[in-house]
Amino acid sequence: MAGYKRLFYRVALWTWRRSSRMSRNDSSAVFGEAGFSSCRPKARQDVEVDIYERLPVPFGLVRFGVAPDHPEVKNVINTFTQTGKNARCGFYGNVNIGKDVSVKELQQAYHAVILSYGAEGNRSMGIPGEDLAGVYSAKDFVGWYNGLPSCQQLSPDLSCETAVVLGQGNVALDVARILLSPIDMLKKTDITQAALEALMESQVRRVLIVGRRGPIQVACTVKEVREMVNLPGAKPQMLPTDFDGVREALKDLPRPRKRLTELMLKAAIELPAEKEQEKSNKASRSWGFRFFRSPVQVLPSDDGTRTAGIRLAVNKLEGSGEAARAVLTGEVEDVTCGLVISSIGYKSLLIDPSVPFDSQKAIVPNLMGRVQQAAGLYCSGWLKTGPTGVIATTMNNSFETARSLIEDMDSGKLDLSADKSGAQKITNLLEKREIKPVTFSGWEKIDRVETTRGGSTGKPREKMLTVEEMLQLAWM
Ligand code: NAP
Repeated sequence: MAGYKRLFYRVALWTWRRSSRMSRNDSSAVFGEAGFSSCRPKARQDVEVDIYERLPVPFGLVRFGVAPDHPEVKNVINTFTQTGKNARCGFYGNVNIGKDVSVKELQQAYHAVILSYGAEGNRSMGIPGEDLAGVYSAKDFVGWYNGLPSCQQLSPDLSCETAVVLGQGNVALDVARILLSPIDMLKKTDITQAALEALMESQVRRVLIVGRRGPIQVACTVKEVREMVNLPGAKPQMLPTDFDGVREALKDLPRPRKRLTELMLKAAIELPAEKEQEKSNKASRSWGFRFFRSPVQVLPSDDGTRTAGIRLAVNKLEGSGEAARAVLTGEVEDVTCGLVISSIGYKSLLIDPSVPFDSQKAIVPNLMGRVQQAAGLYCSGWLKTGPTGVIATTMNNSFETARSLIEDMDSGKLDLSADKSGAQKITNLLEKREIKPVTFSGWEKIDRVETTRGGSTGKPREKMLTVEEMLQLAWM
């Protein structure tokens, strides 16, 4: 590969554990879709790309974020694997950028560095009672059932009948669906065995998905709502009054929003057809959106040790359409529940003080992926845009970053004059610091064992749950 320009990618996406408690071995920023996508477009033969990842395993959000019952979404792994196996692409798992190696050191070793480590932080509700037992962030809950090593101690208490999910985005719907799905459906997925066993024992029968605005403003998409409506053994239970005036507004809505709203309206108001009525009568579980409600306090049990309910402020809307704002009416309402899952979004964190960071927006300030005031530094994924959009959105945003970089190479804006030794320099540093990376073939060993273990119980894979086990296998 002599003579190739070396380009460094730090590609990582999302941790589920508060960073203050993170140590190297339970760290979990993961190399995800934004990173792999940044590697793909119009591959240039004169560029080598090395990918650094905090965990020993790649694929980030696709492995640890996408719901286990959405296997079709995970098919992008096949494309990412082709990228990972490309002779000009190096993978260095088990390397924690900002701790094991600094961004400055990477910049000295490579002509360009792309930061793509996602949104590992959690938007906090900032309300009293948030720290009570029985309150979890969706980020941790999703990490728990998806096998993220740093979330395996969560062991959520599912002994209550009612769960409240705060927020109405797709993550909230993923969580609600997993809580209510029949075990027979889940046991064919790559959900962890520990989560499967906990869900088997779960007493949760009712999930309320609470949003501060109305039906026309929900953040989730029609596919996810349809999955809830069609969920075997569960019936929708909404408040018809939440839909006052919604039918009249339908005609002015853009098409995707209209389809979504019609579906919710049907589930909330229309009497089910005979066949559906039969299904509904048999359903032992229920779910429903609750609109115009903002969380104000998690209510403690009598002994003050755990969650007994949630106090919600009742809102009205100011303005119309998707931009309408929730305004407090002064009324409050208490809902009894033993489980509260906060799903109000993620935020990116600063991993290295040398990187420009906009703490207000929680992104790296950039123009089309070029980090402002930092030549040779680029960003992609949620770190670039904030935590929004599906996999295709993230892929496009990463292609844009790759295009910006190539443009800068061609225009001379990116300094390519110095000879840079890339991974050679970084692996020397790592060796001195006693850090042993995991290569892509190391990950493939883990992959083979996981799929074999899963195959024996009819699952696509049984994920390893500790970094230690992953390392042991990868280094064998
Ligand atoms: P999201 O789509 O941004 O939804 C966040 C939700 O939290 C919204 O309902 C928002 O309400 C609410 N919220 C925010 N701040 C709040 C506050 N202070 N008080 C009360 N409610 C608050 O975020 P997400 O669900 O975490 O998903 C992130 C991205 O990943 C989205 O683009 C999503 O589509 C994508 N994703 C896709 C899939 C899939 O395709 N199946 C699965 C998971 C995630 P407002 O609207 O009022 O702000």
